[in-house]
Amino acid sequence: MIQINEHYTKLQSSYLFVEIARRVETFQQRNPDRQIIKLGIGDVTRALTPTVIAAFHAAIDEMARDESFRGYGPEQGYDFLREAIVAGDYRPRGVDVHADEVFVSDGAKCDTANIQELFDSAITVAVPDPVYPVYVDTNVMAGRTGAWQDGRYEGLVYLEGTPANGFVPPPPERAVDLIYLCFPNNPTGAVADVERLAQWVEYARSHKALILFDAAYVEFIRDPQIPHSIFEIPGADEVAIEFRSFSKTAGFTGTRCAYTVVPRACTAYRADGSGHSVRDLWSRRQTTKFNGVSYPVQRAAAAACSQEGRRELRGLSDYYLENARIIREAMQAIGYSCSGGLNAPYIWVDARGAGSWDLFELLLEKAGVVTTPGSGFGRCGEGFIRISAFNHRERVQAAVQRISSALS
Ligand SMILES: *Cc1c(COP(=O)(O)O)cnc(C)c1O
Repeated sequence: MIQINEHYTKLQSSYLFVEIARRVETFQQRNPDRQIIKLGIGDVTRALTPTVIAAFHAAIDEMARDESFRGYGPEQGYDFLREAIVAGDYRPRGVDVHADEVFVSDGAKCDTANIQELFDSAITVAVPDPVYPVYVDTNVMAGRTGAWQDGRYEGLVYLEGTPANGFVPPPPERAVDLIYLCFPNNPTGAVADVERLAQWVEYARSHKALILFDAAYVEFIRDPQIPHSIFEIPGADEVAIEFRSFSKTAGFTGTRCAYTVVPRACTAYRADGSGHSVRDLWSRRQTTKFNGVSYPVQRAAAAACSQEGRRELRGLSDYYLENARIIREAMQAIGYSCSGGLNAPYIWVDARGAGSWDLFELLLEKAGVVTTPGSGFGRCGEGFIRISAFNHRERVQAAVQRISSALS
């Protein structure tokens, strides 16, 4: 008898986006003439930049000739991209990362999903609340949780992000082994300063724990005091892995390229307490299960890391951050307090005592604007909505005008 992985049956259906789609559909049927504006999406809307496109085209032309054709490349990524990442993303911040610590992949979603398989099934896992659901569901699949109860999985430690801690949860009192952190945060838009990250690094060092640091939105940081990498914190290389992606930073959501940095010093432990290199485990995993990112995509990504490429990316993120400013100021002007949106493309709006779905419905009914109810990201998201700055300027302007005139 072929038996299923029973842990999959504990998973909750992705109720959130299904329910949003259902409500939008109902609204549209009742109001066929009203144009809906979607500020719920976590996907970029602007095209790849000229430098990236030129490199992409040139690489495809190389693939068209026998002399320059490429077949399988190194599973960990071509050296030209790994070097470009070190030179473009780390060296300018004074962070000592080596090219052989950089693992190129086709997405931070799969990397943050796959990394947990390097670790024992009995470890204690801490996840943020509100959370990017990948961190939770992949640990459920691996059998690290009990059943779903009252909106949470038994056996997980939830790190609560609240207005009181500025949505940057402090380390827990109890010991945990694996910690997921995401800054700038999806969905709250919160960023962590040096002091808060240093607390986490110290915690991980004293508990022999490991931090998984998701920096998918690093390109949106504007505050010079905010660290871009967890490796800016001394000692983090022994206790942290960092995930980055070209998706949100360079418009690669449909092109697919990301990378994970696993420092040589990063250590996990065997049952007998002896240390083991996490980098070697990840390298073994990737070379066994993954066959690399396509050559043209890696050339396109390397172009994004060049000086000209980075200038263009700055233009992209400036555009979305201006959208974020417009949204944030409009919501504040009609009396909603907001966080995020300054160093992140998401604005986290306090529903002023209403439920997440109540404010979602109000904005849909009165303004025809679709947002994302915070409750869909976890219990601590109840009472908030997420508004995304990923859209065209005219739509953002139209959306805030509608919201302002309908609600003020
Ligand atoms: C969008 C996003 C990613 C990036 O995923 P890709 O697979 O690289 O497109 C990673 N983490 C978070 C929190 C995200 O929102």
